[in-house]
Amino acid sequence: MQTAMASLYSLLSQLQAQVAALHVWTSRLKLFGPEKPKVVIVGAGPGGLNAARGLNGHADVTIIDGKDYHELNSGTLQTFVAPHQHKKVLIDYEDIPDIGRMVKGRVLAVHEDHVTVDNGALTGPWDLAYEWLILAPGSTYAEGPIKAFCHSLEERQNIIQQEHARLRSATRILIIGGGIVGVELAGEVLSKMPNKKITLLTSGERLIADKPAEIGVAAKDHLERQGVEIHVNTRASKNADGVYSTADGRSFDAEIVYMTVGGKPNTDFLKGGLVPLNTKGFIEVTECLQVKGYHNIYAVGDATDIKETKLGYLAAAHGRLTAMNLRRRFRYGDAAEQQVWIPFGGFEFVTGEAMMFTLGRPDGVAHASLMARLKRMGRDGWFSGWLRAKEKYTVTTRQNLGVPELEPVAIANPKAGA
Ligand SMILES: Cc1cc2nc3c(=O)[nH]c(=O)nc-3n(C[C@H](O)[C@H](O)[C@H](O)COP(=O)(O)OP(=O)(O)OC[C@H]3O[C@@H](n4cnc5c(N)ncnc54)[C@H](O)[C@@H]3O)c2cc1C
Repeated sequence: MQTAMASLYSLLSQLQAQVAALHVWTSRLKLFGPEKPKVVIVGAGPGGLNAARGLNGHADVTIIDGKDYHELNSGTLQTFVAPHQHKKVLIDYEDIPDIGRMVKGRVLAVHEDHVTVDNGALTGPWDLAYEWLILAPGSTYAEGPIKAFCHSLEERQNIIQQEHARLRSATRILIIGGGIVGVELAGEVLSKMPNKKITLLTSGERLIADKPAEIGVAAKDHLERQGVEIHVNTRASKNADGVYSTADGRSFDAEIVYMTVGGKPNTDFLKGGLVPLNTKGFIEVTECLQVKGYHNIYAVGDATDIKETKLGYLAAAHGRLTAMNLRRRFRYGDAAEQQVWIPFGGFEFVTGEAMMFTLGRPDGVAHASLMARLKRMGRDGWFSGWLRAKEKYTVTTRQNLGVPELEPVAIANPKAGA
């Protein structure tokens, strides 16, 4: 059965490669009307998808991703405690309209006029020509289930189910990293499983250390009142028997450890190639999001070296801006004026350090200052308000991608596993 499935997959992969190659030929021969500019997009996260949707109809768009589903990361942590929510968070690419031609495969290398793609075809990797290229490969964590790469939606769904089962049976949970994801994870777990014993370690002086102090203080206050043990200025590493301990001899025993630090750009495939990367592997871009040194290659999202927090709504806005700039260039030629990207979309408004959270619109317009909200709602109100706002953000993001609405899911016991 497995062999039959593998042969079928290989056959389909080859067909996909042939169709893509045939399409390049037919458009060269102009058999189907005037030729549209050929755009290839690498990566179908929020950056790539929004670029694709903004260009579909204006260009011949091919978008490539190694997965067959899109994940709304804003809802990922919630699925670990409420796995039925996976339906909201995991979206089959086939259900996202107007993104052009979707190719499932890994881009292995970028060349001046083509990319090399591997999608398991027996004939091996193949080349896909482009006139315009948008790189949107995003980022990932070094380890763990939070932003895990899975080939298929079913595979990801299984990981979410397993994570839920692990959480239900565990009593002690260790979260490494006091950034926004670590803090949110602790909050999500306690919202459904209040009896879990959570320890959170951060190497920073406070939680969410890169943001104004009031935010970290409020988050710590809230989590500690719910029983979370928080250790600041604490850097732990895993010893041979899997236990995390510090240089001064403190050790933290737990059944589950979540690593929420060590995010890195997915740019290994670009190393040593034509695309310039900074020392941390981020793609160097101009203020119009063009890859430095190339007029026809753009980059968007988490993988760029733009100095701003790496967030999905910003990646989506990069994608939309790039689509708009390209539409102008298609229409008016290379002399067309391009719009520049202002970090944080120009909404950096908390003492020069942006700390915003989503109130529903991913374009930045409806983003409110967390500080303002904190003052308005009080500390505990703020935290549950935060989780609610994220839930709303996930729903709105689906709408913005044109994905069909879901039927409401009946939940038998919302505190399951408590
Ligand atoms: C737990 C969590 C919660 C978050 N919550 C929020 C939130 O509430 N609000 C918010 O705005 N942001 C949030 N973020 C951040 C947000 O998820 C990222 O900023 C966003 O996903 C980045 O989008 P992107 O398009 O740059 O890349 P990604 O979403 O990382 O997508 C990149 C895509 O490229 C593909 N890819 C990579 N390399 C290749 C290759 N060589 N060939 C083919 N395909 C490739 C990958 O498979 C992937 O699908 C959260 C992140 C996490 C982890």
